[in-house]
Amino acid sequence: MAHRTADVVIIGGSVVGSSIAWHLREQGVPRVVVIERDRRYERASAFLAMGGIRQQFCTGVTVQMVQHSVGFWSQFDERMGTPDARPRAWFRQRGYLSLGTAHNAAALTHRYERQRAAGAEVSWLTRAEVSRLVPDAWLDDVEFGVFGPRDGYANPREVLSGMHRAAQHAGADYVEGTPVALHRDGRRMTGVTLASGDTIDTGTVVNAAGAWGGVIARMAALDVPITPLRQMLFRATLPHRWPSRFPMVIDPSGVHWRHDDPLSAGDPDCIVVACTKWDDVPGERFEPDDARWTRDFLPPLLRRMPGFGQLTDVHGWAGLYEMTPDHNPTLGEHPECPGLIFACGFSGHGLMMSPATGRIVSEMITRGRSETFDVGLFAPDRFARGALVHDEATI
Ligand SMILES: Cc1cc2nc3c(=O)[nH]c(=O)nc-3n(C[C@H](O)[C@H](O)[C@H](O)COP(=O)(O)OP(=O)(O)OC[C@H]3O[C@@H](n4cnc5c(N)ncnc54)[C@H](O)[C@@H]3O)c2cc1C
Repeated sequence: MAHRTADVVIIGGSVVGSSIAWHLREQGVPRVVVIERDRRYERASAFLAMGGIRQQFCTGVTVQMVQHSVGFWSQFDERMGTPDARPRAWFRQRGYLSLGTAHNAAALTHRYERQRAAGAEVSWLTRAEVSRLVPDAWLDDVEFGVFGPRDGYANPREVLSGMHRAAQHAGADYVEGTPVALHRDGRRMTGVTLASGDTIDTGTVVNAAGAWGGVIARMAALDVPITPLRQMLFRATLPHRWPSRFPMVIDPSGVHWRHDDPLSAGDPDCIVVACTKWDDVPGERFEPDDARWTRDFLPPLLRRMPGFGQLTDVHGWAGLYEMTPDHNPTLGEHPECPGLIFACGFSGHGLMMSPATGRIVSEMITRGRSETFDVGLFAPDRFARGALVHDEATI
């Protein structure tokens, strides 16, 4: 059984953990250890995600975090490249388009105003302008659109492997394993014991365990409500190479889709489609509910896009959203456990925010506080205090 010392131990080495590790190494923190139990990341939410990146939120600091991240995403492939490999996250800034009908006009208008007030770059479109973005859509019931022109989507698996490789290349040490105990000297963190029996002495532990963030909290005798919730996606091949490229299109039914472009000549032209079932039974449920395709996804999709009649090779999968009671992340040191920093519970938005999160947590560790963003409202003890943060722009 080995014993070692680290400046920072990060639990979870997916997009959030790896972004934090990379930022810490960039700041010159010498001994950064990342504990990750799954070398293949098969159950990591980032591995199973849609890859949407949008600044359309109603909370100022969230908008700032994604705006910062958008700058990072647009340079991701160059910046995260290593001598051995260059990722192809391929951030396509085709925008996020919400369709407004009589059904959702009041709510979407209110949200649009709140997003503008929060500083989001978002425009109001007429039906004719919407039609130019989705020329094949049936728009008779559409009254207007709300469009974030700098938003878009990236390839989540390329993001994950690119972030991981870059952090490793920068000097972060990835250890395969899982913690079984977090040690405290009275209140403060002092170290971690792994299932292998190995121990790491450290004064700083980061909880970047995604949907399992609540489990890690309990190891420190803290109750932080992070609940796994199954989210289903389907990929389908379009009947022919589509003449235009889609932004992320959000139908009032809740169905939303994006292009999954061919990577090489000869690859099929595909879409990835989501429709969140907020009342799904919570828990670690990865089995896909394929019946949802014909029941929940296809009818509204076909109504909006009659040309999708001949979709083929429909394939569904499920991953976990990491839900908190207010659908916002837990970010920051827990006041009852100095040295334990939370960066989890992103409630389905963690991939897009991972660059800003890396910066925030690295500043907390190297400068004692997050200087670039004021994330005090996302403190991990806010649920116990009843200080929830509501943002109506979750989809
Ligand atoms: C279907 C789906 C679609 C999504 N779409 C989007 C989207 O469009 N845009 C967006 O921004 N976000 C999206 N998300 C959410 C996004 O994937 C997550 O918010 C993001 O991945 C959070 O990153 P993370 O690193 O915190 O968690 P994860 O990617 O889940 O990684 C957590 C890591 O911690 C490791 N871990 C957990 N417990 C332990 C332990 N005890 N010991 C060691 N390792 C441990 C896990 O193995 C895992 O690798 C989607 C998620 C799903 C499931």
